[in-house]
Formats: sequence, C-alpha cells, structure tokens
Amino acid sequence: MRNIVIIGSGPAGLTAALYTARASLSPLVIEGLDAGGQLMMTTEVENFPGFRDGIMGPDLMANMRAQAERFGAEIMQGRVSAVSANPDSTFTLTTDQGPIQTRALIIATGASAKLLGLPNERALMGHGVSTCATCDGFFFRGRPIAVVGGGDSALEEANFLTRFASKVTLIHRRDTLRASKIMQDKATSNPKIEFEWDSEVLDIKDVAKGEVSSIVTRNLKTGATKEIPVDGVFVAIGHQPNTSLFTGWLEMDATGYLITKDGSKTSVPGVFACGDVQDHVYRQAITAAGSGCMAALDAERYLEQVGH
Ligand code: NAP
Repeated sequence: MRNIVIIGSGPAGLTAALYTARASLSPLVIEGLDAGGQLMMTTEVENFPGFRDGIMGPDLMANMRAQAERFGAEIMQGRVSAVSANPDSTFTLTTDQGPIQTRALIIATGASAKLLGLPNERALMGHGVSTCATCDGFFFRGRPIAVVGGGDSALEEANFLTRFASKVTLIHRRDTLRASKIMQDKATSNPKIEFEWDSEVLDIKDVAKGEVSSIVTRNLKTGATKEIPVDGVFVAIGHQPNTSLFTGWLEMDATGYLITKDGSKTSVPGVFACGDVQDHVYRQAITAAGSGCMAALDAERYLEQVGH
C-alpha cells in the first residue's frame, strides 16, 4: 500500500513528487508514455523563473526529476490503464507493471495539443513548429509566421505573435471563425494579421534543412494550392486533456478537464489534480509546477486527516 501515487511526470507531477518526497511520503510517480510532458517537445524555456539565461525544456525536466529523486521519489516507467476506488477509501491502479494500491492519488496527466497530423509536423516540432505562442513567440522577432486554427486560442496566439512577427498568416479551414466576437474584432483590425480562409495545411517545409521555410496550403473550395514562405508555424487547433481514464468517475467540465475545488481537490476525496489536466486557461510550466505543489500539500493534509 502506497501513501501517494502520482500519475504523470510533467512539471505538475514532478513538483508534487518533490514536495511529497520531502514530506517523507515516499511517492511513486508513474511517468506515462510521454515522460516529462509537453516541455520535452520544446526547445529553450526562457520564462521559468530562476534560469536567468533560459534552459532547454528537456533539461528542465531532467533537473526536476533528479531533484524529486534526490528526496526519495520513485519514478516508474509505465502506463495506467484503469483506476478504481476500493471500499476502504484507497485506490487501485491497473498498470502494465501490475496493480498498485494507494491511499491518495495525484493526477497530473496533462493535456495534449491537438496536431494536424502531417508527417513533417512532428519532425519540425521545436524547430519552427510550435503549439505554444507564449513559449516560442519570442524566437520569431521580425519574421513571418503562420497560425493554424479559428478558435479563441488561434486568434489569441495570432494577436500575441504580432508583437514579434513581421506578419502573421492565419489559416482557417472555414470562412467563419469559431472565436468570440471580441477576439475576432481584435484580429481582423490588426494590420499584421492576414487570413487564408477555407484553407488546410498540406505540408510544412523544410525537414532536410531542419527548420521551417514555408507551408503549402490548399483552398478547400477551389482546390488551389499555394506555398507561403514562413519561418514558423503555430498549431492552435485546441488541446485535449488526458482524462479518458477518469470518465464517469471524476467530475469534469464539458470539454473533459477535471474540475478542482478548494485548491486541487477533485470530486472524490483522496484524489487530487494539478497542471494542465485541470487548467485550460494558464497552461504554463510554472503554473503547472505551482499547482503540483498545491496538490502535494492537499494530499499531505488529507493523509493526516484520515490517520496516516
Ligand atoms: P476550439 O475552440 O475547439 O477551436 C479549435 C479551432 O481549430 C477551430 O476553429 C477548429 O476549426 C480548428 N481545428 C480543429 N481541428 C482542426 C484540424 N484538424 N485542422 C484544422 N483546423 C482545426 O479550441 P481553442 O481555440 O483552443 O479553445 C478551447 C476553449 O478555450 C474554448 O472554449 C475557448 O473559448 C477557450 N479559450 C478562451 C480564450 C480566451 O477567452 N481568452 C483563449 C483561448 C481559449 P472549426 O472552427 O472549423 O471547427
């Protein structure tokens, strides 16, 4: 019987691990398929406080992991396929390494940015292709870029990116935006944003050079293709919280994000959530880490209350 199991090994999960390890709770982290989380797909992180000259995303995660392990956190490669509550208020996790029982559970399974599914998109991720304008916009000072999507995220990113980019081409698959009116007004009145309506991205070039040099689009109404020279592509077609394991058990909002109250508490006592799995607003490494700390402290208090 474990005191605490943490599912997920991004900034939220590893911060929860660090805090619960320092509280002598011997946490077990089940790292999941994408160990380290979304930061493993980024290059330089310049906005994580404490790193004056920036740090590479994977290095930041390696540091967090080593820091948690230094205090006794155990990190297990593996995947959880089911979670169930036991009559004695403990939980059983089914994993590919066998069943695990725990008194408290911290969910830090994150969210995944939806991708277009193009072969070159993954290859150029972090090398011109990005899913986070706040993280990577700064690298495109004075350069032309494209944003894909027609929702609030895409328009917010497009507006934000005009601070850096020489020009932002917004590519949307329809001729009507999904985004709120206020966002639409902002974007359409921004002289640096140009719209490519009814268009899909067919290809992102140039993998051989290891950087983005252009995108190829196709107009879905006319079939006409076009090559647009850009140095960066921001894919902003939404995020998917990784919550399918908890459907029907934990309270979620309409889009599948876990609902937390009083800090990090989910709808089931003893189960806490932190990071992007419960936050579709801020989605930053530092806010995820902060909420991981909250979940650790909440879990610690819970264990104390139930007599452990
Ligand atoms: P969203 O509202 O689901 O919009 C996704 C956009 O991407 C849509 O325009 C969609 O096109 C397009 N899209 C989806 N799959 C695509 C694909 N495979 N290829 C090309 N285009 C694709 O997602 P979101 O913009 O991330 O927003 C999520 C939620 O957060 C929303 O409720 C939003 O209001 C909220 N949010 C609010 C703010 C704010 O208020 N400041 C900022 C960001 C997000 P279609 O329109 O054709 O479906």
